[in-house]
Amino acid sequence: MQALMQDWSLTLDKILDHAARWHGDREVVTRSVEGPVTRSTYADLHRRAKQVSHGLLAMGIKPGDRVATMGWNSDRHLEVWYGCIGIGAVLHTLNPRLFPEQIIYIANHAQDTVLFADPACAPLLAELLPQCPTIKRVVFMSDEAPPTPFPAEAYEPWLSGRPADTAWGGFDETLAAGLCYTSGTTGNPKGVLYGHRSNYLHAMMTLQPDALNLSARDTVLLIVPMYHANAWGVMYSAPMVGAKLVLPGAKLDGASLHELMETEGVTYSAGVPTIWQMLLTHLKDTGGKLTTLRRVTVGGAACPESLIRALRDDYDVDVIQGWGMTETSPLATVSIPSPKVAALPFESQLPYKLKQGRLVCNLDLKLVDDAGQRLPHDGKTFGKLMIKGPTVASAYYGSEPGSALDEEGFFDTGDVSTIDADGWMQITDRAKDVIKSGGEWISSIDVENIAVGHPKAALCAVLGVVHPKWDERPILLVQLEPGQTAEKQEFLDYLDGKIARWWTPDDVLFVDEIPLGPTGKIDKKLLRTRLTGYELPFDPGLKR
Ligand code: AMP
Repeated sequence: MQALMQDWSLTLDKILDHAARWHGDREVVTRSVEGPVTRSTYADLHRRAKQVSHGLLAMGIKPGDRVATMGWNSDRHLEVWYGCIGIGAVLHTLNPRLFPEQIIYIANHAQDTVLFADPACAPLLAELLPQCPTIKRVVFMSDEAPPTPFPAEAYEPWLSGRPADTAWGGFDETLAAGLCYTSGTTGNPKGVLYGHRSNYLHAMMTLQPDALNLSARDTVLLIVPMYHANAWGVMYSAPMVGAKLVLPGAKLDGASLHELMETEGVTYSAGVPTIWQMLLTHLKDTGGKLTTLRRVTVGGAACPESLIRALRDDYDVDVIQGWGMTETSPLATVSIPSPKVAALPFESQLPYKLKQGRLVCNLDLKLVDDAGQRLPHDGKTFGKLMIKGPTVASAYYGSEPGSALDEEGFFDTGDVSTIDADGWMQITDRAKDVIKSGGEWISSIDVENIAVGHPKAALCAVLGVVHPKWDERPILLVQLEPGQTAEKQEFLDYLDGKIARWWTPDDVLFVDEIPLGPTGKIDKKLLRTRLTGYELPFDPGLKR
């Protein structure tokens, strides 16, 4: 029997329609490419996004065409985002921090048709565009276009005077809305093709109190770039509830973020751990305070204990860890206390806050061994983490639907983890970063996160190196805080008693820089290349 409820397809244009109509005066604040902080509202944004739609149609963009963007978080970027998806075209966010060859590969693979870019990207585009023949038009998201060797126009004159009544929606909710490439460690980057329905559901899932818990009373500073992992869905969830949205533009340094937090009254923010470390360093150096910020979601990489403690003890900010990946839209698990954990004192809650958390509704997880057999959820057994749900990719762009799934319909996350009887999931490592020593696994993530709590450490990375007896042994690489010096033994002493003795790194190397990849995570691939030729010290005094 069919239900007798209304037909209301879950297309994403409805989210901005809703925000403009019911939260129309709620502000959207941007640190603009021109420099000053600018203010608009959801009503303004809706009107201008409709003008973008008119402009795209005038350019000949049709449903399904890929419209690329390359820029920082801004109101104009968001207008292009909704203006594109509203008419059924596919918004493709390009990450300007990738290597030029990767961007060229991605733009050609996606067959991008037009490109909206920040003016700062002009030199990069001069290098790329001759090799991206499908991109026919470039619009710079600024008042004026910078001088370029290729034809381009500026956004404001392009938009000005266009009607704001282009119809949105009216298509199937299962159609594609967004395309985001994820750079694997092997092979070429792969495209994740989000749908209207999948993003709509994801936004609703993330809004739950036990997930991001956003409300109309929140002021959200979106630090996660719009080109990274679907901006954690915040481009949909914030307007869905009418939260004030603060977009930081290109300036992601501690001082600029802190200024926005204080002047705009930011209550909630989200970003990778390295961003929070930078902010903390700035606050320590300047004696700055966080007077309105209350909650942050930290994800994209494991959250160090020192970060959770510092934000709580010194600034009264609650850190909630989230786990997910580009392929999962991305949010999937959150480290919000369960009733059992909430009843514990903070020190006993901490080990749970350091886990990646429990599953958001609408998803399923399993652990499997190399043969694909299910493993127990006992909190001890490590296995490949597999995930299933309507917000999880079934295939990469250009391949057969379902081709990325196992026979039970689960997607292999590439992470190795444990799950305990209460559903707490903890990532041990990316499968490729796992250190296997004497047949047992050492979690590089655990050791890194403890080591970075050393007061002299700015960043730490743990890598496995080949060992004749144990196959692999861990070594610790440390980037010290500016002006600091340290002895290896200080770090080994610091770890003593905090990790199993046989997990203790066999060497500590002080490096000038621990490189960060294009999404702000430690670039272990590059570190491995830099370590080529490194050999463990003779007779390292194994702790096993
Ligand atoms: P990306 O698709 O670039 O967002 O990368 C996704 C990967 O980042 C995941 O598969 C994890 O390996 C890692 N990751 C994301 N969140 C966390 C977290 N909270 N803790 C540890 N690793 C994480």
